Amino acid sequence: MQFAPTVLTPAEEALRAEVREFLAAELPADHRPALGFAGRHDPHFSRTLAERGWVGMAIPPEYGGHGRSAVDRFIVAEELLAAGAPIGAHFVADRQTAPALLHFGTEEQRRRFLPGIAAGEVYFSLGMSEPDSGSDLASVRTRATRTDGGWTVTGTKVWTSEAHNNHFFAVLCRTSPMEEGSKHAGLSQLIVDLHAPGVTVSPIPYLDGSHHFNEVALEEVFVPGDMVLGELGSGWRQVTSELAYERSGPDRWLSTFPVLREWLRERPDLTDADAAVLGRLAARARAIRHLSLSVARSLDAGEAPAVEAALVKEVGTRFEQDLVEALRDAAETELDQGSGSLFRALLAEAVLTSPSYTLRGGTTEILRSVAAKGLAS
Ligand SMILES: Cc1cc2nc3c(=O)[nH]c(=O)nc-3n(C[C@H](O)[C@H](O)[C@H](O)COP(=O)(O)OP(=O)(O)OC[C@H]3O[C@@H](n4cnc5c(N)ncnc54)[C@H](O)[C@@H]3O)c2cc1C
Repeated sequence: MQFAPTVLTPAEEALRAEVREFLAAELPADHRPALGFAGRHDPHFSRTLAERGWVGMAIPPEYGGHGRSAVDRFIVAEELLAAGAPIGAHFVADRQTAPALLHFGTEEQRRRFLPGIAAGEVYFSLGMSEPDSGSDLASVRTRATRTDGGWTVTGTKVWTSEAHNNHFFAVLCRTSPMEEGSKHAGLSQLIVDLHAPGVTVSPIPYLDGSHHFNEVALEEVFVPGDMVLGELGSGWRQVTSELAYERSGPDRWLSTFPVLREWLRERPDLTDADAAVLGRLAARARAIRHLSLSVARSLDAGEAPAVEAALVKEVGTRFEQDLVEALRDAAETELDQGSGSLFRALLAEAVLTSPSYTLRGGTTEILRSVAAKGLAS
């Protein structure tokens, strides 16, 4: 495991300033910040951001993207998250589906989906988890059987974020029966249209009553043969490499940052105790940011820092939660979602939603296992 020290170049710092200027102009001064990458679905904002070239940054120009570095993408994501911008519509497709299509997709699939993703207009969900398969993804039971011209898919996916708003999802399913001693074999990924006949999307309300994720039932859904993503039977290898990509970015440690910002805005005169809280949080954020930036540099160098990425998510998501608890203690305030104080309203939202951060994208225990195995090998 290695985290090489790195700093931003003057050109990268200039990009940051540009993004800040854009956000100051685009977001109304009184906008309610979204918490994290899944915070709010706003297609208009996604398209406007894309027009500036800040969606699909890592997609090559021949597919409608901008061929920028992972570090440039990191800088833009960091600013968007810190400002609480509504990036929920495009973020998962941009972060996860686009690299998967570039690595494993056919030329036809890339030409069909990547330009729309880069334009901030085509949105994807992730169809991995099932009622009895979360951490143990290899045990998925959704199955696809061959039919004329493609596949028939039957099964149930759960916790499918934004399936009610998105267009497609990449479904991990079994395309051949499980064999004794090889449960990772026989799994494949299919790109499924969320509006196809036989697909039923039902809400699973969040703790605060909001609608973010869903159960998606697939009842003999026809999927054309050209919608197999990657090689048949390589689904396990593909999703694990995809997960490595999604674990290390600023979206894993900045989700609750807007709460801190509002606290400081509403409390201009810090006590010594407040300053100590702020100092501890800032020091941790700075250290995690270095680790996360270092992973982005290493991606740009063509490396595959899966173990480092798992570690960043483990420390990053714990930080997101600890920040909420630290501010709750420091502010000594009652939780109130309908409060006239933006800080109190955001704090209440964060208390209800942040427990999920150490589950989504791989639980803390699973990430520790990945990191420990990486250290041992
Ligand atoms: C906000 C949110 C959004 C999500 N969005 C999506 C989505 O869009 N698409 C999707 O497919 N999934 C999504 N998920 C599901 C998420 O990936 C799973 O919740 C996660 O993988 C854990 O699976 P599980 O909930 O079945 O828990 P389980 O796997 O049952 O785990 C329960 C507990 O046991 C522990 N545990 C399990 N196995 C081990 C082990 N081997 N060693 C040590 N401890 C272990 C876990 O760490 C956890 O604490 C989302 C989840 C959340 C919270």
